[in-house]
Amino acid sequence: MTLLIMGSVNRDITAQLPEFPQPGETLLATASETATGGKSANQAVAAALVGAEAHLIARCGPDAAGADAVSSLRDAGVHIDAVTPGRGAQGMAFITVRADGENTIVVVPGANAELTAHDCPQELLERADWILFSLEVPLDTVLESSARARAAGVKVALNASPLTGQPLDLRDVDLVIANEGEAAQLLSHATHAGVDSDSAAQGSRPGKPPPGDFAAALGLETLIVTLGAQGASIHEAGRDPARVPSVEVDAVDTSGAGDAFAGALLGRLTRGDSLETAAAIASRFAASATTRVGAQASYPRDFRLGGPAGVT
Ligand code: ATP
Repeated sequence: MTLLIMGSVNRDITAQLPEFPQPGETLLATASETATGGKSANQAVAAALVGAEAHLIARCGPDAAGADAVSSLRDAGVHIDAVTPGRGAQGMAFITVRADGENTIVVVPGANAELTAHDCPQELLERADWILFSLEVPLDTVLESSARARAAGVKVALNASPLTGQPLDLRDVDLVIANEGEAAQLLSHATHAGVDSDSAAQGSRPGKPPPGDFAAALGLETLIVTLGAQGASIHEAGRDPARVPSVEVDAVDTSGAGDAFAGALLGRLTRGDSLETAAAIASRFAASATTRVGAQASYPRDFRLGGPAGVT
């Protein structure tokens, strides 16, 4: 019943603007806010809010921003024993949100860049069911920690974001969550490498997968593709894809929607829900988050698992 989330914690500085600035241009924001963010911190909060025992493994800054981040995570119900101060400053994310809700994000890693596989306590690995990674920390840390987790019998999930264009070694990953662009990028690497080669479809399924079996093409048990307002799709190796229902809402800011989905999905899988049920709950949780401004701050605090439209 334990979920580990290993990765980044950031300080989000968000500016709302009528339009994105052009190169060389300076614009005045119409509103701004600072809040705790970072993909893994967001995911840990989402998992805790859907009822999971969520432990974050991360490096925060040894500064006031780091202390703020730790206390807001604790307040949200995240276990923070494995969040330790780094030497570098708190990681930062500079976010602009345009009037139509579209955003841009620049991340400065800071202490997140110091996270290593040794930061994950063996004692936590031994009692975890799932571990969830994302890619705002060094790739070597993710790969080494995935291998350690798998060796300890823990199931491994990866939110393949942000992708920087390099092929990913998914040999120790069971479940990938990606948005449409990320999924297309992963699949194009698999296609270029040839699905039978060692580097693409690692290990589990020898031979050429049938066309359209995206999970098998990546050597995975399961690929979940998030589709924004359209919901998501589930691709399990050897099975027909299944659609996760979307939820109609008036979205005002989609920042952190992907993290809301990933954290809620893994939180509910850890609580024993089926993949379909967990994904449907994650879709409602993430849709609700888009109806408020901010990433972590927009996540519903009083989310009802069995609720109707997911708008709380
Ligand atoms: P972001 O980078 O903004 O966090 P993303 O690109 O990683 O998002 P999306 O596919 O845009 O991920 O959104 C994740 C999930 O959030 C979707 O699968 C869906 O459940 C929910 N969602 C996002 N946008 C909307 C919307 N406009 N209406 C309803 N649900 C939404």
